[in-house]
Amino acid sequence: MNTVWFKKIAASPRVGKLFAAPGNAGMEEATVVDIMENDLDGLVAFAKQNKIDLTIVGPEVPLMLGIADKFQEENLAIFAPDKEAALLEGSKKFAKDLMVKYGVPTANYAVFQTAEKAKAYIHEMGAPIVVKADGLAAGKGVVVAQTVDEACRAVDHMLVDKAFAEAGAAIVVEEYMQGREFSLMAFVHHDRVFPMIAAQDHKRAFDHDQGPNTGGMGAFAPITEITDDVLATAYEEVLEKTANAMVMESKPFTGILYAGLMLTDKGIKVIEFNARFGDPETQVVLPLLKNDLLQVLEDVLAGKDPGLQWKNQSCAGVVLAAAGYPATYQRNVPIPSCSATDHCFVNFAGVKQDGERLVSSGGRVLLVGSLAETLDQAAMNVYENITALNTSEGFIFRSDIGR
Ligand code: ATP
Repeated sequence: MNTVWFKKIAASPRVGKLFAAPGNAGMEEATVVDIMENDLDGLVAFAKQNKIDLTIVGPEVPLMLGIADKFQEENLAIFAPDKEAALLEGSKKFAKDLMVKYGVPTANYAVFQTAEKAKAYIHEMGAPIVVKADGLAAGKGVVVAQTVDEACRAVDHMLVDKAFAEAGAAIVVEEYMQGREFSLMAFVHHDRVFPMIAAQDHKRAFDHDQGPNTGGMGAFAPITEITDDVLATAYEEVLEKTANAMVMESKPFTGILYAGLMLTDKGIKVIEFNARFGDPETQVVLPLLKNDLLQVLEDVLAGKDPGLQWKNQSCAGVVLAAAGYPATYQRNVPIPSCSATDHCFVNFAGVKQDGERLVSSGGRVLLVGSLAETLDQAAMNVYENITALNTSEGFIFRSDIGR
């Protein structure tokens, strides 16, 4: 779980007591509670017992399981989409069909449940072409195929070998798009949409966007090359239209709506939606938010305009991942003693306590970030800090974020 929104909540003077379930060793602001994210009954019982005023959901799995529905049945306040609204992330078929029905710009596509028909379509369309498992596949269910053969192998992998089980029972075969990718998130409550600042993610493992896709190796915000006109279009044609479409479909969305976008030569198109804070983008967007995040969430839930205000600065963040990531990676690597400095902050993700020390437990281990007057300065601060950490062999990171 990325800890940045959590830290921002912890910083609110309105917070009395903060709990994190299951949390991680980097969340010292909270009492860590040993309840797993998919134990909905356990989470409801805990919230009732401890009279929790507001619950915020980080990962996607509990959203898809219907955590918001369960909390609402018990009159417990929660900032998260219910099960049906979370389909925007949980089913690519649902998201694509909705976009086409309501005129939200996205790549052309077709949905298949049998390999034969999917392959016939791929042969007809040619490559490059993109094959996606319908459901959640932890970032591994998308193949951007350069050849027809590669696309057909992806079809077999998903529909014949059932590599993603139910999540791959249907697939979306999608037109290949070219352009600049960026992310735009918004606080949403039904038809009210309050956008954040756009951010640039870096999904490929290695410098200059080479190597395999990852969960994100770093990010920066804002993106000066993306014009206000483009951002206004992304807001109106994507975020607002989608929120309104969900209301029309009787699946009103509450929570963070994340749009992964591609700026193509034909304008903006949606790559995907997430129904939660995106990572690592959130880690560079929220430091720019002036408001008290807890107040923002409460205002949005109450149907009020939170009056978002943003710092006139730039934020960059670089992920330190375990060597080998995103393939098999080392675990239990001791975490260098990194703490925040005047110029930098550190957000832990895949870490656990091992006696007195912190060791890595996941692929993406931590992010070093910096808020500065310019992006150049922010990136310089981050890389100076990483060099000082002397991480040696145990970690990999990209050296071109924000540069
Ligand atoms: P995440 O890891 O963000 O959950 P995901 O597994 O849901 O991602 P997508 O975001 O849909 O998958 O796709 C992953 C990446 O594949 C995108 O960031 C983009 O780089 C590339 N991609 C997806 N769809 C297309 C497309 N139609 N054309 C070109 N590239 C694409």
